Amino acid sequence: MANHKTGVKKLVLLGAGHAHVHVLSSLARQRPRDLEVTLVTPQDHQTYSGMVPGFVAGCYAGHECRIALTPLMRSAGVQWVAGHCAGLRAAEQMVDVSVRAEAPADAVSLDYDLLSIDTGAVVDRLRLEQVMPGAAEHALMLRPIDRFVHLWPQVLALARRRPLQVVVVGGGAAGLEVLMAARQRLLRDGVAGSRFTLVTGGAEPGSSYPAGVRRRISRQLKAHGIAVVQDTCIGMDAGLVRVAGGGVLPCDVPILAIGTHAPAWLLNSGLNLSPQGHILVNAFQQSTSHDNVFAAGDVATRADRPHPKSGVYAVRAGPALATNLMAWHAGAPLKPHHPPSRTLNLLSCGSGHAIASWGPFHAEGAWAWRWKDRIDRAFIRRYCLN
Ligand SMILES: Cc1cc2nc3c(=O)[nH]c(=O)nc-3n(C[C@H](O)[C@H](O)[C@H](O)COP(=O)(O)OP(=O)(O)OC[C@H]3O[C@@H](n4cnc5c(N)ncnc54)[C@H](O)[C@@H]3O)c2cc1C
Repeated sequence: MANHKTGVKKLVLLGAGHAHVHVLSSLARQRPRDLEVTLVTPQDHQTYSGMVPGFVAGCYAGHECRIALTPLMRSAGVQWVAGHCAGLRAAEQMVDVSVRAEAPADAVSLDYDLLSIDTGAVVDRLRLEQVMPGAAEHALMLRPIDRFVHLWPQVLALARRRPLQVVVVGGGAAGLEVLMAARQRLLRDGVAGSRFTLVTGGAEPGSSYPAGVRRRISRQLKAHGIAVVQDTCIGMDAGLVRVAGGGVLPCDVPILAIGTHAPAWLLNSGLNLSPQGHILVNAFQQSTSHDNVFAAGDVATRADRPHPKSGVYAVRAGPALATNLMAWHAGAPLKPHHPPSRTLNLLSCGSGHAIASWGPFHAEGAWAWRWKDRIDRAFIRRYCLN
């Protein structure tokens, strides 16, 4: 809470997601002297998910997909608590953090005057296990993204020894990109004979895209020799994936790219939540129940104007979030954030080719991949202070 002698107030930032990276860079340019800022996040870097398929394809090294947080925090005069938020008590203005430490179960509680949340979405293992028994134990999950990046080299090492059956469960953009990237990489660096399958959950691959884009995606999958199973995965075991129609797919590497959940620690926070458990925010990215709590990215849902959860929207919310946090602190009027009604989508099909779409318009080619590469590298550069 505010120090009554000095008048210094406490801002706690939970997570170093896309919007908070911008908040940090904005604080590095100018931080009010009467504001003490703490960032709670597990790592000293933020991995940019948009470049992870390129990392899988072997086009980027791990460090090229990361924003180093230490220089940003140092410039912004921000303290770092290396850990995960495990609980929030909005009525008491307290967050409970499980601290990353050698000793297990270390925990601290932090009080705040102003709180901002950008912790992204999670895969809730308990909920996953209910619909897909065995997945929590056997699947290689895309989230947390750092864990996936850490484990991917083990898949590569295995692929250098023997052909693999790779099954990606989840036919959305992330699953498609990672599958096509994995195929490209294993054909290049692994022994011959690996096979690749997409399990879509019943729908067409890329079902949230317009029909023209879906046709392009299907053509790409066919050209890459990727088998498509339009069925729902209902469980996994060592070496196999089960689908609802009764089929069993042999599988060495089951990659899970299904939809994500809201974090369970929000449930008892006292904040207004959407039916899916995300933080409900207004046009100022401010909680609809607690005016000193702001949120952006996949953890939040705009009550006035729900939009898809994606990195593009999280990035766009960053400047508005930074402005409104400072305005709230200064007692100045907040500014509404207007998310775009449609965004440019660049779906990479392995490195070297991408499908570009914007609303009903779509096209593809090597130029689209170069465009994505330029945008992604520029994003990383913008926040690398070193
Ligand atoms: C492989 C892949 C590729 C993708 N490609 C694209 C793309 O090209 N374009 C696009 O628009 N979207 C893409 N997405 C979706 C995109 O990743 C997400 O929508 C985006 O990351 C959401 O950003 P965010 O700021 O909400 O959180 P995140 O980027 O998920 O960041 C959350 C941060 O919070 C930290 N954190 C998590 N839990 C806690 C906690 N309890 N306490 C403290 N800190 C915590 C994390 O370590 C991380 O630093 C892709 C997703 C994947 C998996």
